[in-house]
Amino acid sequence: MIIVMKPSATKEQICDVEKKLTEFGFKTHPIYGEVKTVIGAIGDKRLLNTQAITSMPGVESIVPIMKSYKLASRELKQTPTIVNVGGVEIGGESITIMAGPCAIESEESYMAVAFKVKQAGAKILRGGAFKPRSSPYSFQGLEEKGLKILAAAREATGLKIVTEVLDTRDVDLVSSYTDIIQIGARNMQNYKLLQEAGMTGKPVLLKRGLAATIEEWLMAAEYILSAGNDNVILCERGIRTYETATRNTIDMSAIPVVKELSHLPIIVDPSHAAGTWKYVPALSKGAIATGADGLIIEVHSDPTCALCDGPQSLTPANFAQLMEDLKPIAQAVGRKL
Ligand code: PEP
Ligand code: MN
Repeated sequence: MIIVMKPSATKEQICDVEKKLTEFGFKTHPIYGEVKTVIGAIGDKRLLNTQAITSMPGVESIVPIMKSYKLASRELKQTPTIVNVGGVEIGGESITIMAGPCAIESEESYMAVAFKVKQAGAKILRGGAFKPRSSPYSFQGLEEKGLKILAAAREATGLKIVTEVLDTRDVDLVSSYTDIIQIGARNMQNYKLLQEAGMTGKPVLLKRGLAATIEEWLMAAEYILSAGNDNVILCERGIRTYETATRNTIDMSAIPVVKELSHLPIIVDPSHAAGTWKYVPALSKGAIATGADGLIIEVHSDPTCALCDGPQSLTPANFAQLMEDLKPIAQAVGRKL
């Protein structure tokens, strides 16, 4: 539920209400607005003596949150969340582009592509060190060696970095290197992993599960938020349908739906949706036009030799062209790129 405080409520009154809610076994989540403060209270409402709260000084009203997810909902927070990754914003006026190869393969090749995507205007570098592969015989990633290369590329380019964690046992390791922790589609409902990633306090990029509804996806985000981490970025990466012409089916409608249901920023991964590099530009343009806050795109210097996801990777030249082509679309929807 939401405790709406009066515009005149003092800091002490807000604190007292939080204390009282804690006594009733609730977790509190204050949101300080320009006019009013509201306190999100998560817990078992049967244990709450509502009267004891409504009668407290400074309290205006109590409003229940009807949705199954609470902290992720627009009901709790009306203003959009802007996730700040060391100065790079996701969810603000600017469209944020993340780019890089699917997997980190070697320092030399990674550095080369990192500088190219930077030159084209990407703000965040992607690269997998722990890869979730369908086959156990496929390249599984360079693991910590890959994380070291990623960190060196951040150092060299000044870009921020995002990389995936697959296992709760690696959360501390991955988090010690990266700026954004990626939870992949296959792990969207790995609740322990979500909680562990949430507890690091680092921004978390949460991909939509292969067959997850938007509600299930927002419930997954709720696990991260309820671990005390407000910095969640949602990522639509295509879902499983009966269609086989593309690797997955991009769900463009998820963008406006998520914007209505949640305050969290949403980006789109056109690469894993398309499965083929040729479709990536069209899907990228569509995503920006539909209101996405950013994109995460796979780029490889030599896609035919890539150890992972080569067929869906853009060359640096195609990526640079796409960045140019996206500018008027961003402008048309009132965004900057
Ligand atoms: C990836 O980003 O390389 C990846 C494995 O993505 P997804 O979890 O969306 O399949
Ligand atoms: Mn990939």
